[in-house]
Amino acid sequence: PAKSASDDNLTPFMRQWTAAKNEHPDTLLFFRMGDFYELFYDDAVIAARELQLTLTARDRERAIPMAGVPYHAAENYLQRLLRKGFRIAICEQMEDPKLTKKIVRREVTRVLTPGTAFDASLDQAQNNFLAALHESDGISAIALLDLSTGDFRAAEFHGPAAHKQAIDELAKAQPSEILLSSNAPADLAADLTRNTDRVAARTRVDDWVWTRDYAVPLVERKLGVKSLEGFGLNGHPCAAIAAGVILHYVQSTQKLDAIHIDSLRFLERSNELQLDPVTVRNLELVESLIAGQDTRTTLFSTLDCSQTPMGKRLLRATILRPLYDAAVINARYEAVAEAHGDLMCREGLRRAFNGILDLERLLARLSLDSAGPRDVAALAASLAKLPELHKTLTAFTAPLWRDLTDRLDPLADVTTIITKTLVEQPPLTLADGGVIAEGVSAELDDLRRISRDGRQSISTIEERERARTGIASLKVRYNSVFGYYIEISKSNLALAPADYERKQTLVNAERFTTPELKDYEVRVLTAHDRAIEIEKQLFAQLRRSVLEAAGRIRRISAVVAEADMLAGFAHLATIRNYTRPELVDEPVLEAVAARHPVIEDWMSATNEGRFIPNSLYLCGQTQNDPETTENTQPSLLLITGPNMGGKSTYLRQAAMLVLMAQMGSYVPAARMRYGLVDRIYTRIGASDNVARGRSTFMVEMTETATILNTATNKSLVLLDEMGRGTATFDGLSLAWATVEFLHAEIGARTLFATHYHELTMLAEKLPRVVNLRVGVKESPSGIVFLHSIEPGAANKSYGIEVARLAGLPKAVLERARHVLRQHERQERRSVQAESETAEPMQMTIFTPLSQRIVDRLNATDVNSLTPLQALNLLEELKQEL
Ligand code: ADP
Repeated sequence: PAKSASDDNLTPFMRQWTAAKNEHPDTLLFFRMGDFYELFYDDAVIAARELQLTLTARDRERAIPMAGVPYHAAENYLQRLLRKGFRIAICEQMEDPKLTKKIVRREVTRVLTPGTAFDASLDQAQNNFLAALHESDGISAIALLDLSTGDFRAAEFHGPAAHKQAIDELAKAQPSEILLSSNAPADLAADLTRNTDRVAARTRVDDWVWTRDYAVPLVERKLGVKSLEGFGLNGHPCAAIAAGVILHYVQSTQKLDAIHIDSLRFLERSNELQLDPVTVRNLELVESLIAGQDTRTTLFSTLDCSQTPMGKRLLRATILRPLYDAAVINARYEAVAEAHGDLMCREGLRRAFNGILDLERLLARLSLDSAGPRDVAALAASLAKLPELHKTLTAFTAPLWRDLTDRLDPLADVTTIITKTLVEQPPLTLADGGVIAEGVSAELDDLRRISRDGRQSISTIEERERARTGIASLKVRYNSVFGYYIEISKSNLALAPADYERKQTLVNAERFTTPELKDYEVRVLTAHDRAIEIEKQLFAQLRRSVLEAAGRIRRISAVVAEADMLAGFAHLATIRNYTRPELVDEPVLEAVAARHPVIEDWMSATNEGRFIPNSLYLCGQTQNDPETTENTQPSLLLITGPNMGGKSTYLRQAAMLVLMAQMGSYVPAARMRYGLVDRIYTRIGASDNVARGRSTFMVEMTETATILNTATNKSLVLLDEMGRGTATFDGLSLAWATVEFLHAEIGARTLFATHYHELTMLAEKLPRVVNLRVGVKESPSGIVFLHSIEPGAANKSYGIEVARLAGLPKAVLERARHVLRQHERQERRSVQAESETAEPMQMTIFTPLSQRIVDRLNATDVNSLTPLQALNLLEELKQEL
């Protein structure tokens, strides 16, 4: 709250400021004063700090802190503040200061918030989401709106994991602002920052807004429907409320009807391959793990060859939500196949996207009344490309292409309206006119003729008056103070006709005007102003007619986006040698000579060697495949070998293949066969979470718990170096038990990379566990990584060799070798001891002591024991521990 509020003897000016500030308390108030936006009090202090502005003072007595920015350069400052999470209220002068003697009327015309930005500086490949989180009665719902494109979605989660799922979904969307109820618990904030690098601004919205009676009708009205059934929202009141809160917020900040928001998508988790935020981060799908590093090493950057911003955003969204619907996936393969097979058509198609600008964002700007003449011209220029695109598309016959072609309304009527109304190259703004084409309005054309002819008529009048008076030096001129005048030098004054009215006397000359000249002046000057006024009206009218087609333009954008993405897939398939995966009805994951798309691309771009392809064979356990039957297809691969050998790469590669395949793309493998994956789980490296104050081990165990509790036999599970965060024996035992559980209880397709060589013994005990190792060549000068994946367990720790490569002192290496040899000898002894006693499934790893206890218990007949004997037995067993 402003300090000034308590100040009684405020100047009228500060009273006006205080009123505006009180109406928008959580904002920085940009207060328009002439050519500046000024900030006062705490706002000024904050703005000065954040924008490095000079802090001055208004009103010397009271020394009110003040800072300002020139209004014409404000955009840049505003964006910087928004990016830092501030909310800003723009208070404009509502009348011309020249026309009023009193204090100028001012009003807040817009509230800018991080989540409602739609300016040109937004990243075109990314959505800028405003989110709302609504939780009630154990249900968690979210809604997301990108005001800059009109993309509007909602989702609802039930059950014990509802809250976590909602938070995960938010983390994935990376909104720039999250709306919370004013009475939402404060600790929600902590949840919201977990797993996200970008911390969204959090805005509290009054709790009365979060009600069914208020919020749901808002959504219905906005979408123009009586019930939300058509949007899949029936029976999901929480999601509808969250969506309503978003609309309420947009209305209160924009003070304008956002016409381009015309549909709402209810997200069904069952329709997509689930990726939690940890996986999205670990696999570096859209952002690099190394903070601040450019994003060239992400899957998105590797796959992005979209020609349009809509295509880019769809690709990004598809990477984050791949499909889980065989029919849709196969339809995409078929479309890609057709474009892949026809070079001419494919190239023609890619060319056809050229010059289609960001239809969605141009439309949004128009809808929010911030589009200038050039934006509208750009929209028309983009729409003008549609007929060509349509023609190119008709060359394709795959059902998906057909469908896209049918849906591609070329919007010729809209294009025509715009091109007919606007001049060919309109100026940036409406301020000086010259926007509307000739022939649109007869009145405008007249007015323009009057001002254009002005100069011409002046010289006509001048000539006529010279002839009439006989004064050869007579001049007709214009200046901004006196308007049009006739000037006669002092020596010729006597010749001035009687109808000349004296206007101004100079040293050597006299200036006159005539009724004709006065009349003329009024006409010319007002003609110019009126012309601009009419242009503004016509432009507004144009805006309205284009907006009538808003829904069609949005549907076209979606078609363009999908066609662009598919054309991109076909292009990648060709240039990178990707192949069409075969989607089957068994939980297999089979790939021959597969590559990691990002590393392969990076290697070929930088000439850093060649990627070594590897194959993969996995088969999840089928439901009707009871425990007992001898299914010996591997469901779990245990990968051992030295660090830097390529284990992580092999794991990630498997995930990339599945992800790309379920996006409908071709894949980097000579051949791939797979069954749908419902969710990809990863437990890989934990370094990035440690900074958030949870121990590595705790993070690791939490993630493992999620996998073991929720994975299904259709999932893909990647576990990399599990158990590293704790003591060796702890870690090994947990890893061991985890493998057993995954194998027996879940049957998910699993890749497990480990440095615990002991685990490789499991392959002998468990039928569906198979050992793999990374290929290494030993040469006199050390070891060479072949980056190939081979059957079998690595039988030796190469850690010391790697350490040698890294330059560890010789003495340390010698000593380490010695210790290792001793350790290995010991281990062999204990394993031998075990294998003599233990039965396969009850095998214990390194605590043969406990085996004796088990044996004692086995040998005891509990029914024949007296209570005292039982106690004694317990005591004895305890001593054994
Ligand atoms: P690990 O997990 O075994 O420590 P990584 O998977 O991190 O090993 O790989 C180590 C390095 O080897 C990485 O820099 C990676 O680029 C490279 N590499 C991994 N697999 C391959 C491959 N198949 N072909 C070429 N280089 C590879």
